[in-house]
Amino acid sequence: MNAPSVTSSIDLSAPGKQIGRLRYPRISNNGGWAYDLIPIACITNGEGPTVLVTGGNHGNEYEGQIAALRLIDEIEAADVTGRIIIIPVISVEAAWAFTRLWPSGVNFNRSFPGRPDGPPAEQIADYFTRVLFPMADVVIDMHSGGNAFFFLPCSHMHVVDNPAQRKAMLEGMLAWNSDYHFLYIDVNGTGLLPVEAEDQGKTVITTELGGGGRVPAYVHQLAWSGLTNVLRHEGVLKGALQTRESLGKAPAIILDGRDPENYVNTDEPGFWENLLEPGDAVQKGDPVGRLWFPATPERAPRVFTAPLDGILTVIRATTPTLAGDSVFVTGQPIEAEAVLNGE
Ligand SMILES: [Zn+2]
Repeated sequence: MNAPSVTSSIDLSAPGKQIGRLRYPRISNNGGWAYDLIPIACITNGEGPTVLVTGGNHGNEYEGQIAALRLIDEIEAADVTGRIIIIPVISVEAAWAFTRLWPSGVNFNRSFPGRPDGPPAEQIADYFTRVLFPMADVVIDMHSGGNAFFFLPCSHMHVVDNPAQRKAMLEGMLAWNSDYHFLYIDVNGTGLLPVEAEDQGKTVITTELGGGGRVPAYVHQLAWSGLTNVLRHEGVLKGALQTRESLGKAPAIILDGRDPENYVNTDEPGFWENLLEPGDAVQKGDPVGRLWFPATPERAPRVFTAPLDGILTVIRATTPTLAGDSVFVTGQPIEAEAVLNGE
């Protein structure tokens, strides 16, 4: 296979703090020899693990992007033991456009493993797959609900088959110290960044930090405190490790979203009304939201009910809802021990 088409302006093996750009070819009506740039930083000091931190996999999920930018601003080489590679805004144009997908319609998080001679998103994915992931012990990829959803602010994970990897991912997820965590499955396609990193055996820690088109201060605080605490947990950032206990908080609730029934969609369009808030307990059959029909007010709203007992985890943040759209997600509390045991 050809060498990656993406190049870095900084030497990722050099010590100290460096801020540079990833560069990849742009062929447009403005000319055939242009390029696009993605900011990257590398903060290295001595021997230790390598952690790759990414934000903006999806453009309009800003919580992690801000936390990653803050990391570049505030962390110096003397604070680090090992190496932190930070790409704060992967999908630059989508982030500026306030959209999940790239302006071309591409979902970067369905572009893996990528290829050097594919379209731009696949070229960047290929650079992650063949250059960045092999360097990393830990990959932290920060998401949120974007405009469309509000997710209980949390770190989350796939329950991977390898017991040692699963344990490392569970402990990393818990080190975010959020009130909730979520065990997710891929209900919509393949080619995800976290899956490629998991397949390479990495400890992968991902988040869903709220969403809904507004970032409250407490979510920014959780993004920052969680990210830095996970970096301390992984041994790459100096400073005192905190636990929920040391913070005076009750144990976190892990929600199991591995039963596909938890993901509720509508088969017809309408205006969505939430009847409950994320974190509310539900029993199977409880009304969770309803769909209104603005073109036919003669018709009563259609009530959507909880498919299972559990906790409401994700609600729809965008009122106009198309046929096929997701409207809410639930999860069932599960003990960390059961996750470790592969249950
Ligand atoms: Zn996302």
